[in-house]
Order: sequence, then structure tokens, then C-alpha cells
Amino acid sequence: CPCRIEFFWVGCVYGRNNDAERFGFFCHAALEFLLQSGFHPDIIHCHDWSSAPVAWLFKENYVHYGLSKAQVVFTIHNLEFGAHFIAKAMKYSDKATTVSPTYAREVAGNPAVSPNLHKFHGIINGIDPDIWDPYNDNFIPVPYTSENVVEGKRAAKQALQERLGLKRADLPLVGIITRLTHQKGIHLIKHAIWRTLERGGQVVLLGSAPDPRIQNDFQNLANQLHSSHSDQARLCLSYDEPLSHLIYAGADFILVPSIFEPCGLTQLTAMRYGSIPVVRKTGGLYDTVFDVDHDKDRAQAQGLEPNGFSFDGADAGGVDYALNRAISAWYEGRDWFNSLCKRVMEQDWSWNRPALDYLELYHAARKSAS
Ligand code: ADP
Repeated sequence: CPCRIEFFWVGCVYGRNNDAERFGFFCHAALEFLLQSGFHPDIIHCHDWSSAPVAWLFKENYVHYGLSKAQVVFTIHNLEFGAHFIAKAMKYSDKATTVSPTYAREVAGNPAVSPNLHKFHGIINGIDPDIWDPYNDNFIPVPYTSENVVEGKRAAKQALQERLGLKRADLPLVGIITRLTHQKGIHLIKHAIWRTLERGGQVVLLGSAPDPRIQNDFQNLANQLHSSHSDQARLCLSYDEPLSHLIYAGADFILVPSIFEPCGLTQLTAMRYGSIPVVRKTGGLYDTVFDVDHDKDRAQAQGLEPNGFSFDGADAGGVDYALNRAISAWYEGRDWFNSLCKRVMEQDWSWNRPALDYLELYHAARKSAS
């Protein structure tokens, strides 16, 4: 049936029991469109399991139908989902990438990746600096750049405290914006909430859990904190993009204690808003966050100054190590802390650099074809 709107008009993108069939159809349609429209692309770039079928549909069929000019590039965003499809696309593609150099190393031994290491590269993701722009953002009270970051963030923190019913006070505020899944380090998130409260700080968590048991668990924690620490902590268990802007702007720290993280956008957005990332050293978090006490040389090798706090390990001691240093730095040296906020805002985590890496990869793909 050519009329398959009921396939996609289902109120969600993923998570139906016919995802493979729906996305397979979509991949076919995309290739058929390219063929019928007479457009002859040089590169067809597919992402993750959902467009993986393009790689083999192209090489087995469409290349013979007349789309012969194209080279297929395939990018892994998260190997946890659809590994079988990803493995097959890796085999059929001409070049493959994933979203950070460190994640590329971490997954190099995975059977989906290891036979294809010769064509596999890590290129960091970027954020859109127009969508995430504290100087032009309808969801925050005072527009700011690195020049007036202190005033801008102070106003945003007050607005956030007011909106969520927290005490309006000058306290270190830790923000957490995340899917609540194992990947994101749930036990570390919970521990960090309690540690921050113990240190006299405030915590705002914005997150939602696809697993109802985890959602329920956090709902209980939210209720508990609402009665025991109502002026210090608020857990918002929904998906709310406008609120995320206010948290990025109003927080002093954004915590990302992921167990694994292919790239991670949260820490990059945090820095765009002058919030200091506190992260676990994994995947793209390792490649973008440089600890103020330990990573000066590693940052310098990238032409950067250190920009955050990080930790190894996946236990409470690890997260404490980074969080305690972060909160102490806030209490003990506000001038230093404010200059750190200014510094992270001036770092460029947009697509400017990664786009050049992709261009180079596309040129290499074309060259290897000719
Ligand atoms: P992942 O794709 O694994 O969830 P990323 O760090 O790559 O992690 O991207 C997460 C994005 O989703 C970020 O832009 C973050 O701001 C946003 N986000 C996550 N949870 C929420 C939420 N509950 N409400 C609003 N935005 C959210």
C-alpha cells in the first residue's frame, strides 16, 4: 500500500513493536526518492540502527539501479541500541564514524566494530549555538554573554529558584538534565543529590525514565526530598525543553556521571551557558571536559584551558571526589569560579571544528572510490 501514514502517525518515534519494519520502509523510501528525483549524491550518510538498512539496500540494490556515484558513511551514536543492524551497516558502509574519539576506542573491541576498524573514526558532536544561546533565549530572564555572565546567571538562578519554590539564596546549585537510564549513572546521580544537600547546596534534576520502575523510584525520591529538603532540592520528572534552558543558565554546575557516554550534549550545552561540567571520564565526556586540577596538559594539547571537574570509577567515592572539589571551589574562590564560567563560555563546542573533520572524511571517501 503506498499510503503508509498510519505507519508513522503513531504518537511516538520509537518503541513500537514494528520499529524495524517502519524504519526499513522509511529507508527504502529515502533511496527510492533519491533515484526517482535524479539527484546523484556523492555521500549518503546514515545514522544508527534506524537508517542502517540504507547501507545494505544501497550496496545490494540501488547502486545497480543508477545511484552509483554515492559513497556510504555510517555513524554510530549509541551501540547499545540495535547492535545487529549497526554491525551489518558497518560492514556495508565505505566509511564509519562514531561521535567521539574516546568512545571509538571504547567500542573498538565490540564484534560490530572490530572487523571494520580500518574505516572507523571518532568525530566529536557539536551543539547548535543559535538554539543554545544565552544572549538570545526566550526562556531565561536576562540575556548574557561571557562579558556579563555573572549578572546573567544570577538572574537565571533567581528565576529558577522562584519557579521551583526553592530558597532564594546565593548557594551553589547543581543541575542534572538527563534520561534516567542505567547509562546515565542513576546510582551516582542519587548519591550526588545527597552529597550536594549535605554540603549546603541546591539541586535541580530534570529527567524522565522510559522504565516505569525507575520513574516510580525517582517519584518516591522526589516526594521524600519535597518534604525533607523543600527549599534545597527539586526533582522535575518530565521532558521539558524550556525548563532545561533555565536550568542550564541558572545552575553553577551540570552533573553528568554517565557509565558510558558516546558523546554527550549536556556538558557542551552547560558550557555554552557558563555552567561548569562535573562528569565521569568516559566517551565524549572525557574528550570535552578537562579537569582544572589534573588535565592542564591534555587541554593544552587541544588548544584549550581546563573547563570542569571529572572523576574515574563508578562508585560514590568517584563522584564525591569531583563534586566536593567543585563545591569547595565555589565556596572558597568566587572570583576564580566566575572566571572559570567566563572561560567555558568562550570555548567553541559548536560544529565549526567537527564539520571540518566530516568534510575531510567525505573527501577521503570519494577519493578511495575513484
Ligand atoms: P542521550 O542522547 O543519550 O540522551 P545526550 O547528552 O546526547 O544524551 O543528549 C541529551 C539531550 O536531551 C540534551 O540536549 C538534554 O538537554 C536533553 N534532555 C535530556 N533529558 C531532558 C528532559 N527531561 N527535559 C528536557 N531536555 C532533556
